[in-house]
Amino acid sequence: MNAGTVGSVSPAGAARAPERPWYVTTAIPYVNARPHIGFALEAVLTDAMARYHRRRGLDVRFLTGTDENSLKNVQAAEAEGVPTAELVARNALAFRELRGTLDLSFDDFIRTSVDERHVAGVSRLWAACDAAGDLYRQSYEGLYCVGCELFYAPDELVGGACPEHGSLPELVREENYFFRLSRYQDRLYELIESDQLRIVPQSRKNEVLAFIRGGLKDFSVSRSRERAHDWGVAVPGDPGQVMYVWFDALGNYITALDYAGDGDLYRRYWLESPDRVHVIGKGIIRFHAVYWPAMLLSAGVPLPTTIVVHGYVTVDGQKIGKSLGNAVDPFELVSSYGTDALRYYLLREIRSAQDGDFTLERLVRAHNAHLADQLGNLLSRTTGMMERYFDGLVPTPGAPADVDGQLLDLAGGLAARVDAAMSEYAPSAALDAVWALLEAANKYVVTVEPWALAKGREDAAVEERLATVLYHLAEVLRITGHALQPFLPATARAVGERLGETMDDGGRWPAAAAWGGLRPGTRLAKGGHLFPKLDLPGDVP
Ligand SMILES: [Zn+2]
Repeated sequence: MNAGTVGSVSPAGAARAPERPWYVTTAIPYVNARPHIGFALEAVLTDAMARYHRRRGLDVRFLTGTDENSLKNVQAAEAEGVPTAELVARNALAFRELRGTLDLSFDDFIRTSVDERHVAGVSRLWAACDAAGDLYRQSYEGLYCVGCELFYAPDELVGGACPEHGSLPELVREENYFFRLSRYQDRLYELIESDQLRIVPQSRKNEVLAFIRGGLKDFSVSRSRERAHDWGVAVPGDPGQVMYVWFDALGNYITALDYAGDGDLYRRYWLESPDRVHVIGKGIIRFHAVYWPAMLLSAGVPLPTTIVVHGYVTVDGQKIGKSLGNAVDPFELVSSYGTDALRYYLLREIRSAQDGDFTLERLVRAHNAHLADQLGNLLSRTTGMMERYFDGLVPTPGAPADVDGQLLDLAGGLAARVDAAMSEYAPSAALDAVWALLEAANKYVVTVEPWALAKGREDAAVEERLATVLYHLAEVLRITGHALQPFLPATARAVGERLGETMDDGGRWPAAAAWGGLRPGTRLAKGGHLFPKLDLPGDVP
């Protein structure tokens, strides 16, 4: 069987078909500054998707990296008075270090200025587009925003300024190579409209279709070496020109897999994979949904299957951007508040497809209300009562009562709700489903009052009811832990450790979330509160 057509996970113990590949990427950020919370959002969203699909048993490959050939990087290095190579190496290292800080599970990290596979790969891509007759030289004059690395038409500017940066574009006049984008207008429209290239959410798909309907113009894909400050990938056969940074950067999604050498990874995760997913911010849709697929059509390379577009993070209501100066440092946030507090905020409080505002106060409030009160307290109370009343062992439940019905239904349906959310690439909706269950469990504790039952335990029926209630609560927590694994992996691990359950191995979802997996007699592990309350910023202890 072809690895690319295996539709479902084989049952445990059966002869296993090769697992289905699933490829996902973040956009690669510029490295003119250290990472800010906007990229942290994208990295954590992509990580949640990668972990979720690993849990389903898919053979996931998750790529991230850094976009190092931009003129912005050169300008940042000049402003600092250091060589460009030094600045990009230092900042690329900070991006790579997000792996530990944000608990990311990427499999590969590509650097576009130094990775030989990248330079060789984009050179092959250029040659393929050239062989297709899609590259030609022409003199050109246009308004260029270095912040965007993009030429703007005069009617796209807002009061003469870049709509993204608010800065004035510079007039550039030179002879460059152009890519025949116009040739692909109809084909691109059809591919996107029919969802052969799926753009999520629908509103972004509509935006791209409207842009294509407006007419696609050929775009410049090289710069003079002089204007590029001698930084970037040389155009094959024309050393006086370097590739436009977007031509080179977009190529990373395949060059990392060894497109240059037709390598095994390229075959498995690009040519044969039924899922090739790019996760990007809304500001770079045109590059990913128009330029990039057209370049691939030209080169005879399959397109991505899905482009997932997230909104921007604002901070205290203000747009962040390295150039605007109010960046929020994910390293600082994690050292003050913890990895899962930040992951939770980014994944739940910033709605997956929309813009969202970040404030420290909202981070602390979400942590205290949802993680500490609804999850941490429920775990402490449940395991505490099992310690007190059943010597720290999971009791054997009796038959459920009518009042238990709603909780059991919610728990039994959680996996389906998480799966539905993730089929729309919406971790925020998946976490809504988890917290709906936790809210119901907290209400259930108040309704059934296990501490009151404990006072009548000499009656065997009451004793059995107490056992049943505590089993239900512990089982809800076990299922919650499994559901949280892709989103809050350390929290899931901690919940699992308390309940004697491992959480980290792949291929266990959704089976692990089926009701009744917690075995009576399991010994609970002792531990403190998972989420000690945080003080609001400005509070004096
Ligand atoms: Zn701009």
